[in-house]
Amino acid sequence: MALGREGLHVVVLEARDRIGGRILTIHRQGWPVPLELGAEFLHGDAEATRSVAAPASLATVELQDRHAWVHGGRWTERSGFWDEFQALCRQIRPTRRDRSFAAFVAARRSRGRREELGRLIVEGYHAAPADDMSARSLAEAAAGDTGSNRQRRLPWGYDAIPHLLRTALDPERVEVRLSTAVTRVSHRSGEVRVDCVSALGNALPSVAARAALVTLPLGVLQAPAGAPGAVRFDPPLENKQAALAGLGVARAHKVVLRFREAFWEEPSFVKARTGRDEPAVFDFLHAPGTAFPTWWTSAPLGASVLTGWVGGPGAARLDGRSPRAMLAEALDALADVLCCPRRHVERLLDGWAWHDWQSDPFARGAYSYPRVGGAGASDALARPIGGTLHFAGEATGADEAGTVSGAIASGRRAARAIMGS
Ligand SMILES: Cc1cc2nc3c(=O)[nH]c(=O)nc-3n(C[C@H](O)[C@H](O)[C@H](O)COP(=O)(O)OP(=O)(O)OC[C@H]3O[C@@H](n4cnc5c(N)ncnc54)[C@H](O)[C@@H]3O)c2cc1C
Repeated sequence: MALGREGLHVVVLEARDRIGGRILTIHRQGWPVPLELGAEFLHGDAEATRSVAAPASLATVELQDRHAWVHGGRWTERSGFWDEFQALCRQIRPTRRDRSFAAFVAARRSRGRREELGRLIVEGYHAAPADDMSARSLAEAAAGDTGSNRQRRLPWGYDAIPHLLRTALDPERVEVRLSTAVTRVSHRSGEVRVDCVSALGNALPSVAARAALVTLPLGVLQAPAGAPGAVRFDPPLENKQAALAGLGVARAHKVVLRFREAFWEEPSFVKARTGRDEPAVFDFLHAPGTAFPTWWTSAPLGASVLTGWVGGPGAARLDGRSPRAMLAEALDALADVLCCPRRHVERLLDGWAWHDWQSDPFARGAYSYPRVGGAGASDALARPIGGTLHFAGEATGADEAGTVSGAIASGRRAARAIMGS
């Protein structure tokens, strides 16, 4: 949360004790490679993120974006992965009332590979329950799609982005307070007071300002009073209730596994699964129906790392698992995906990492998705209240919601509005 204050400019209040996520590095042929527990890819053009990276000459590397479908011990390449999804979404005809993606699929005559892919992307990439995800919003996104399905990585780690943003702040005008959790925001026209506590729960000095920019995650904004991490608004945000109800909190579990060697790249291993002689190094492997239906490699970085991902209802099923139980689920699923005995996978496992975003009080989920009837909710959430309370963050990021780039762009939009008010 950032606050504009006469004289003293801006105070940034952040509940965590650091800027950027945790990054573990491994060394393969001497190069450190980040293990990303949160954001990892630049999806599409991601202009706002690249506009932070480019002036610092921070490299981004593009994925080939090769996807394979896993079935019956075979890996079959699936070309046009994103195009096929966009084509499906363009078939969503406008209905008087919005409906869920699941309802759209159920009403179709065909229930084939394309529909299966659609569900995988809605429940995986969007990490939303298919029976709650707005079909209208998917149709609108597909209609406005610029055709850029590029996926890129930041080889030095995603946390370079918040670090660059942080170092660009003028220390004379901006104060960043870490380990400072906001508990209450009292507001009236032209006046805001923010109460906060330390990591140990002790009261810290309140901050007064003429305007505040609220960048709390959707899960925190929706948290009931008294829940860990919840923030009380005084008066309550009555005119935001419809917008908040129109957005759902996506759930996801991401497990990062580090192996002694990248055995899945060996030509004989690949050939046994693809039937092809040429080494086919896939970026993504998909096995709908397993506990972690999507896996990706670190390509093109070449680290011996595999990442398992489950979103939506599949993630909800795993909520509350202990770290060891989560690892066990991941190894079972990976053995299925790689079509090899679990003991083989386990024997070569060298380390692993996972962060529970759902029970993290300052996240309370992964990111947002538009629920049925919630196609305009992101814009409604973004609207300031009386020039005093402004809103930014991925959930207000409209066509880039759910991404880092959307969050950065929304922050710039809100900062311009505050400076102009
Ligand atoms: C597992 C996972 C993988 C992802 N992968 C990608 C990806 O590959 N590419 C991509 O573009 N996006 C990805 N995302 C989404 C991306 O991380 C978010 O869209 C982006 O971080 C949102 O930025 P934000 O500023 O809106 O919210 P956040 O990054 O959540 O920032 C909100 C801040 O508010 C702080 N906060 C919360 N409560 C309080 C409080 N009470 N007081 C003070 N501070 C508080 C939090 O500590 C946090 O730092 C992923 C997300 C997850 C969880």
